[in-house]
Amino acid sequence: MLTLSIIKPGAVARNNIGKINAMIESAGFKIIAQKMIAITKTAAEKFYEIHKNMPFYGDLCSYMSSGKIVVQVLEGGSDAVLKYREIMGATDPLKAADGTIRKLYGVSIDDNAVHGSDSDENAANEIAFFFSGLELL
Ligand code: ADP
Ligand code: MG
Repeated sequence: MLTLSIIKPGAVARNNIGKINAMIESAGFKIIAQKMIAITKTAAEKFYEIHKNMPFYGDLCSYMSSGKIVVQVLEGGSDAVLKYREIMGATDPLKAADGTIRKLYGVSIDDNAVHGSDSDENAANEIAFFFSGLELL
């Protein structure tokens, strides 16, 4: 199965792409597609539409459009979505378990290093948002 990962602007700015990718690969995932892009606030608003009623929606979308991001498709086992959420750690880096990506490379709940899909259905939608069929061959 597949999941969508995003290395967020803060982690890219802090030069943590390689270290995060090493953790992803060490955990047994294959990075089957990856690109560094910048997105507009409008695009971020579309991507995070499910959060549009949350108080943090505006700040989240501004943050995600504040610098380069790395979007990537990870192939894991049957539980790729859950397995990636496990190695990401809790949303708030201060609450994330030792050894998780967010604990190591996140700074705050806004600047928490990575995004990971939360269900197989959302993973499929999120992958289709960023990648064409051709890029996934
Ligand atoms: P996750 O990324 O762990 O799936 P959510 O989907 O709930 O978390 O939220 C999306 C993103 O919005 C989080 O990664 C985080 O950067 C931000 N966020 C979530 N909750 C808060 C909050 N209470 N305050 C500020 N930002 C938040
Ligand atoms: Mg989420």
